[in-house]
Amino acid sequence: MAFHIPDDKLAEIRNKADIVEVISERVMLKKSGKDYSGLCPFHAEKTPSFSVSQDKQMYYCFGCGAGGDIFSFIMKSDGMKFSEAVLFLARRYGIDIPSREMTRSQREAISKREKILALNRRVMDFYAGSLVRSPAGEIARQYLKKRGISQKIIDRFKLGFAPDGWDRLSRFIARSDVKPELAESAGLIVPRNAGRGNTDNGYYDRFRNRIIFPIIDVGGQVIGFGGRVMDDSKPKYLNSPETPVYNKSKTLYGLDIARNKCRQAAMVFIVEGYFDLLALHQHGIENTVATLGTALTAAHVRRLKGYAKKTCLVFDADTAGIKAAQRSAPIFLGESMTASVMLLPEGHDPDSFVFEHGPEPFLARAQTAEGIVKFLITRAMASHGNSIEGRVGVVADIAPVIGAMTDSVARSEYAGYLADRIGADPNAVMEKIRENSGRMASNPETYRGGYGLGPEKGSGAGQDLTGSRRIERMIIAMMIQHPASIADIVQKEILEMFTDLHLKEIGQEIVKFPPSAHGDISLLMNHLEDEDDQRLVASMAMGGAGAMGGLGAMGEMRWKEKSCNRIIEQFLAGCSKKSNDLVCRIRAAEENNDHELIRQLLTEKQAQIKRRGRF
Ligand SMILES: [Zn+2]
Repeated sequence: MAFHIPDDKLAEIRNKADIVEVISERVMLKKSGKDYSGLCPFHAEKTPSFSVSQDKQMYYCFGCGAGGDIFSFIMKSDGMKFSEAVLFLARRYGIDIPSREMTRSQREAISKREKILALNRRVMDFYAGSLVRSPAGEIARQYLKKRGISQKIIDRFKLGFAPDGWDRLSRFIARSDVKPELAESAGLIVPRNAGRGNTDNGYYDRFRNRIIFPIIDVGGQVIGFGGRVMDDSKPKYLNSPETPVYNKSKTLYGLDIARNKCRQAAMVFIVEGYFDLLALHQHGIENTVATLGTALTAAHVRRLKGYAKKTCLVFDADTAGIKAAQRSAPIFLGESMTASVMLLPEGHDPDSFVFEHGPEPFLARAQTAEGIVKFLITRAMASHGNSIEGRVGVVADIAPVIGAMTDSVARSEYAGYLADRIGADPNAVMEKIRENSGRMASNPETYRGGYGLGPEKGSGAGQDLTGSRRIERMIIAMMIQHPASIADIVQKEILEMFTDLHLKEIGQEIVKFPPSAHGDISLLMNHLEDEDDQRLVASMAMGGAGAMGGLGAMGEMRWKEKSCNRIIEQFLAGCSKKSNDLVCRIRAAEENNDHELIRQLLTEKQAQIKRRGRF
């Protein structure tokens, strides 16, 4: 066993935590039959192939083959180690795991993360306190008032103020008995250069004289901070650097507060600035998140897919906004996420617009916002003009965007639309798009088809399975789907005869940790160390297509006593045939005096005897 968090603790977490509840915080799930389904958070798709079973307490994606239990889901979706995922769920469900029950390295790995999160929370309070109480905070209080930010919004977003000066926070940290190295790895303080004179503890504050926006994840943890200046000094925005708890390419500001409203509205507004976000929330447009001064990533879009079907990008009417739309278009299209672009009138940003006009005109504009491709075509036509060169320029701009679409029907529809708009030959346009397709694919993750489980990639492996492998696989699936068969398999020592030693190991784990009466396999999942093994078991538990190695989907196949017996008989017959074959081949080799072949075959025979002392 790879981990030392005791089984009873894991069992306690499993009993209290519900996989459907936890996953539905990150993925929009719909009940379908006994199970739930939704868009897979691990690969780009348009039609749901991600399935969650409450009975079995597991998930499986028929598209990319990702699968596992509640722990592996958290690990994969939040980038945690096993022990961190256990602790995360334990805390979430109020289960205490005494640290003495963990190994030293687990304790260390967890404790750094935990310590940073705890420190961040204290620092958030420190900044909030400076905003509310300190005399130095008056300037920030006035600033927020001038910008019209209400007290309710300040409280909800836990805004703060980093006082001017180089060591306000450093001193607070020194007083609170926290090692400066920890605060440094949390990105809160920065070591002074040796040349700059070594005062105090040798660190200075990262955030100075800025309004502070704590960045909080959907689990309510303070993972980082953003700071904005109150005048024209640079940089306008400053964010925490990447830390063990903060990954900017996955994080969207305000999602912790916006997520329920995003689900209700089934759409989400994406803005660029902190104040844009606050202004929209204050005007009741609460399905709004902000990017944190970084370009939108595929991870952002996938995260949003868990809360909304549509996005609306809101930009100022400047060229930077158009550039940003151009950059993010392939990402939305690659992820099959519907996106529209809303440009505000000259001189406005979302903040100034809602304060001046109120929320209704904003929402009205959103209603008529153009889809991102149409928007880009309109813009490209305006900038290139209608000359021949201009039209060539438009196609050059737009072909990569349409080429990024994963849906081939949509791709040809948009190619036709583009050709129509500029009056070009649709075939020539499509040709140009083909040249560009795939080049800007937003999804670099390729599925590791360890078992040929993925129907799309790594295929072939399923078909290539030899007869004995296929039947060994069926036996493993039978053990998972029909645990009543396990006793017979053990009694007949079937696993001992497996030629695929990996499947044999998995089979042995199933014997040790069999599925429960209603099919819960999470105990087994906990004991599989390898991600590929978890995937294989998950796919078999779900009766996944391909899982049977080219035998086709088992679906909700009902195992009957008779079919179980038939499979076992078939397997045993195969074993003795193989043994007989070998005997025949040895005889033939002896007749031909092929000593080298005889030697080889005898070695094989010996291995067979070793595996199973009967032939
Ligand atoms: Zn998937």
